[in-house]
Amino acid sequence: MGSLPTPERWGTIVTGSYQLIHRFPIVNSVISMQGIPVQLAGGVFWRAALGALAAVIVSAGSFAPSAGAQESAIDRLSAEGEAQVIAWRRDFHQNPELSNREFRTSEIVAEALREMGLEVETGIAHTGVVGYLRGAQERPLVAIRADMDALPVTEATGLPFASTVTTEYRGQEVGVMHACGHDTHVAMQLGVASNLVALRDELPGSVLFIFQPAEEGAPEGEEGGAELMLKEGLFERYQPDVVFGMHAFSNLNTGQIGYRAGAIMASADRFELTVHGRQTHGARPWDGVDPIVTAAQIITGVQTIVSRQVDLTRAPAIVSFGAINGGIRNNIIPDSVELIGTIRNLDMATRDSVHERLRTTVTNIAEAAGAQADFEIFAQYPVTANDPELTRRMLPTIERVVGRENMIEAVPRTVAEDFSFFAMEVPGLYLTLGVTPPDVDPATAPANHSPLFYVDEAALVTGVRVLSHLVMDYMAGN
Ligand SMILES: [Zn+2]
Ligand SMILES: [Zn+2]
Repeated sequence: MGSLPTPERWGTIVTGSYQLIHRFPIVNSVISMQGIPVQLAGGVFWRAALGALAAVIVSAGSFAPSAGAQESAIDRLSAEGEAQVIAWRRDFHQNPELSNREFRTSEIVAEALREMGLEVETGIAHTGVVGYLRGAQERPLVAIRADMDALPVTEATGLPFASTVTTEYRGQEVGVMHACGHDTHVAMQLGVASNLVALRDELPGSVLFIFQPAEEGAPEGEEGGAELMLKEGLFERYQPDVVFGMHAFSNLNTGQIGYRAGAIMASADRFELTVHGRQTHGARPWDGVDPIVTAAQIITGVQTIVSRQVDLTRAPAIVSFGAINGGIRNNIIPDSVELIGTIRNLDMATRDSVHERLRTTVTNIAEAAGAQADFEIFAQYPVTANDPELTRRMLPTIERVVGRENMIEAVPRTVAEDFSFFAMEVPGLYLTLGVTPPDVDPATAPANHSPLFYVDEAALVTGVRVLSHLVMDYMAGN
């Protein structure tokens, strides 16, 4: 498939009960489940694929034959529901909403869950929605979570359903884009709900579908996300036994699932530091206390925390300064200097230790210089850690669904994820889903948060199948 779609050749498809009308490119009349993204000179990706249409026309999926009746039922339902999942995804993609502003998204989610016959609760942590599906028995209760928010990124994919939404963010006019793939998470989780509703009489347990706002962080001055959902008593009301989550990532190919027992994403904590000296003439430093030199010593001193004091065989750690501000003129030593930065850890005990050592280092260096340090750490996200026992238990399910060759043991990432709050409460398993087309090297694919972040929609059915089977197998005690 060499040629590019042209706007005159869009087709139209009406999918599912939602009657969502989607426009998509037609390329040489070739229908493919995989599709070939073509990179234009300007760096624009076109998806020359017809995932939705193919799913309508091709009734069978490409998965391996299943072992049991229930298993084949999930796979059959996933194949049948693929076009609807893609339609949902494109609709959310085209209508992205920033953190704590997921009004439209949550309304569509709530409506879809109600139509499926679930008990629905809305308005949790501002725009959060949960759907409760009671199976043949009440317990165990398995929670699965999808985050719903988009990012202040101006989309540059050139997709026919690319976002053209703009909004004001921190006083600036910005584009809004699902550049982290949360549109796929919402769509896939609706797909899982639809699958499990069809099997509700056979479900040896119940399911809590969590649609979470503000994973990317609430706007300044607001609370949000998983932490706020818990603060509002979500887990006290429902008391799930486990929680599963999945994130679309560019670093794996379609069909691949990343897993890891233990820490998979880092904790993230912000710090603010003000070094108070005493202002004086640059020609007479001895008359004052120089906060610039003190700040420089602190920056250097802090480097030895990770390099000399932390047991790096236990877990890596990061301390980074992000800004330093102070002074106005060449011959004035200022009164104070402000610094901000971030702390990342992959082990909660190491995290406590790094925080403590930072305080000690900052305070003592300032004191030695005759300055004073106001130092504050703002806890943001804990480490996202997969429960080792739950991970071990569920690996056979993943292997059965995607095949061993598609299971990739993930390297921990030093970015953070607020799924961690849920996984601190009950055993959690957070997987990553490859969304880079098979013929593209994930190392060169635009990463999550890039304006060119691109999802191969053929990956969505894999996500739906894996999550559905995980829920079912956990309930069945497998
Ligand atoms: Zn993100
Ligand atoms: Zn994300």
